[in-house]
Amino acid sequence: MTPASPDPAEPAPCPSERGAEVDVWLEAGREGRCFTYLDSRQLGVDLGDLVVVRLRGRRMHGLVMDRRISSPVDRGQVSGREAPRRHLEAIEALVQPAAVDPLWFGWVEAMAVHCHMSSFRMLKAALPPGWLGQRQSHQAEPRRLWWIQLESSAINPQNLPQRQADLQAALAAGGGGAWQRDLQAAGFGSGLVNGLIKRGLIRREKRQPIDASKGLSCSDACDQDLEVPQSLTVEQQEVVEAFQSQPLGTGMLLWGVTGSGKTEVYLQLAERELQAGRHCLILTPEIGLIPQLVDRFRRRFGTKVLEYHSGCSDRERVSTWRQGLTAAKPLVVVGTRSAVFLPLAPLGLIVLDEEHDSSYKQESPMPCYHARDMAMDRARRTGARVVLGSATPSLVSWKNLAPQGQLALARLTRRISDQPLPPVHVVDMRQELADGHRRLISRPLMERLSALPEAGEQAVVLVPRRGYSSFLSCRSCGEVVQCPNCDVALTVHRSRQGHQWLRCHWCDHRAEVESSCHQCGSKAFKPFGAGTQRVMEHLVEELQGLRLLRFDRDSTGGRDGHRRLLEQFAAGEADVLVGTQMLAKGMDLPRVTLAAVLAADGLLHRPDLQAGEQSLQLLMQLAGRAGRGERPGHVLVQTYCPDHPVIHHLVDGRYGEFLKEEACLRHEAGLVPYSRACLLRLSGDSAAVTATAAAVLAEQIKPLCDAQGWCLVGPAPAPIARVAGRSRWQLLLHGPEESPLPLPSGSTLWNGLPRGVSLAVDPDPIQL
Ligand code: ADP
Ligand code: ZN
Ligand code: ZN
Repeated sequence: MTPASPDPAEPAPCPSERGAEVDVWLEAGREGRCFTYLDSRQLGVDLGDLVVVRLRGRRMHGLVMDRRISSPVDRGQVSGREAPRRHLEAIEALVQPAAVDPLWFGWVEAMAVHCHMSSFRMLKAALPPGWLGQRQSHQAEPRRLWWIQLESSAINPQNLPQRQADLQAALAAGGGGAWQRDLQAAGFGSGLVNGLIKRGLIRREKRQPIDASKGLSCSDACDQDLEVPQSLTVEQQEVVEAFQSQPLGTGMLLWGVTGSGKTEVYLQLAERELQAGRHCLILTPEIGLIPQLVDRFRRRFGTKVLEYHSGCSDRERVSTWRQGLTAAKPLVVVGTRSAVFLPLAPLGLIVLDEEHDSSYKQESPMPCYHARDMAMDRARRTGARVVLGSATPSLVSWKNLAPQGQLALARLTRRISDQPLPPVHVVDMRQELADGHRRLISRPLMERLSALPEAGEQAVVLVPRRGYSSFLSCRSCGEVVQCPNCDVALTVHRSRQGHQWLRCHWCDHRAEVESSCHQCGSKAFKPFGAGTQRVMEHLVEELQGLRLLRFDRDSTGGRDGHRRLLEQFAAGEADVLVGTQMLAKGMDLPRVTLAAVLAADGLLHRPDLQAGEQSLQLLMQLAGRAGRGERPGHVLVQTYCPDHPVIHHLVDGRYGEFLKEEACLRHEAGLVPYSRACLLRLSGDSAAVTATAAAVLAEQIKPLCDAQGWCLVGPAPAPIARVAGRSRWQLLLHGPEESPLPLPSGSTLWNGLPRGVSLAVDPDPIQL
């Protein structure tokens, strides 16, 4: 029997009847707060569980932080408090038992400090959307998926190619229909499906799966016809062996030219980890690259492969997360940067493909984290190992090579196909102008484009995304106005009254806009950077007679959007695929023989901290799109700066030389990664209030900066000073390499902000 309460005013039932008292961490303020609830429904909740409770009448998801069985007697004796027992509300439901384990949580807390974020917010960002915090009232519509249906009229067609016949037989055997994703998993690629659609044997339509998470998982049958690994080339074999001898908790930079078999190496490393009973995480920077990567991993590992990225519905993400928590067998998860948080244990391998890509950095909302840093830290703590793969490694990783740094280096120098990389032809746009040719498309490019249809070939044309900021340049001699102190182009700013001035975002140097060139006196001296939209309109006019397809964020919605457009293009529905940066990334289209850039200048002179490096990476990647099939490819670059080092190295293809030179230059100029930076971004509805808040913040931080040897630049309007009606201001801090950020801890910075102004702290920013 349990002892009766000594106080008749407090008729407490026995603890086992009442249930335990549970502290639940809930979304309240930046830091979150713990509130006490009662497990009166006997759900048996425990530390690390996610539960549903009510706070002021609203349903919330919270994390169980503490749990105790305490009778009022015990409480009185222990705490000495005699206050009458409060009424405790019940825990309503258990969302997920053991959602957060202490080791994983310790890592997330450390990352929160790294990102200058509260632990609660960090945890909320790490968990699948909707798992922690206030519950969304509207339940998201489940995503619709492609359903492939055999046409009933089409029975026993003759002379089908073998694989198409296989697909048809598989569909018939499965009752006449299947989800395209399951077919893909079973090794029937989209090309085969398209083949049968063209023959009128099947049709494809969007349907709603009964349960998205169930509808996607394919039966064990998919695990039967798995692809066997390629036998590795000597170089690949060496990489695999080098990796195997790496200590646990470390990383390796895999620098391999495009088509050198990096993905095959990932596959085989993953296979070894799976055999050893450890999970694998395969990350890619862009959601557009997910389908082909998933296809390749599914062909090899079947149902062990899961996806986790923003193209998944919330439900799918939760389902993958849950499988990570409970999996009996090791998994391979293919995802974008947020997948780095998945709770996989034991974790053996984390691959970041295209590790140089800036999409691995989350810029907004906070936490502004870099998946590469996260992966390295996670590996260190858990004994996993990291592979950073790229044809054009980032300067940051290159600088981090052993013996000074932490990364081992492995190289793949030869393409599997032994095809040479396509030659690069540079078109000097200054000459075009001098010859009186003022079109967007130069004569050499026009010539090549118009020859495409007859040859049955295709081209991709990159239009750099609108230099969201512009710089001042001379169309006659190519001169660009640079900061006298830094290796950075000055940015043109416009006030609302139309006044223009120049500013360096790195050191705050300011200058007037001039109307003629200092070098050559030309009057063709003006801001550079037309909008993508306008360029597209001009292109349509200039390329009459060619069939164009547009590939950018506006024309490709989500995962299927990419796939559909690329399928259309691959099926020959257009001659030219025109698009922004996304175009350069990873697509494999055998009929593309020409890759062209309209105005490389828009890339070269962005005010970003790594503009040169990023443009060379992008251009080399774009070059890799041409000549992947039988016919050799070529690359054509239009620019006003043919002598820019980036253009030189693009032509000679010596990326390593570029890295060395760039490292020297940046080291001397004290630019990242040979210094550290941090950007504080403010935005608000009112320009005046936001500007004042920025000034107040600067005053608050200045003494800390001075004390720690950091430099404070600004406050200043952001390069795009207004977005979606909100004014944007920023403070840039830069200081010595490896030194901590000169910022007060906790939420001090946010406490003084006026209403309606928001602040984000972006440590080690990539874009200004
Ligand atoms: P990367 O990821 O470096 O661009 P991939 O792994 O995609 O290179 O390889 C390029 C092509 O070569 C792919 O079609 C792949 O299947 C093929 N491949 C890779 N390794 C081998 C190998 N050892 N033997 C035969 N083919 C290979
Ligand atoms: Zn000039
Ligand atoms: Zn400067």
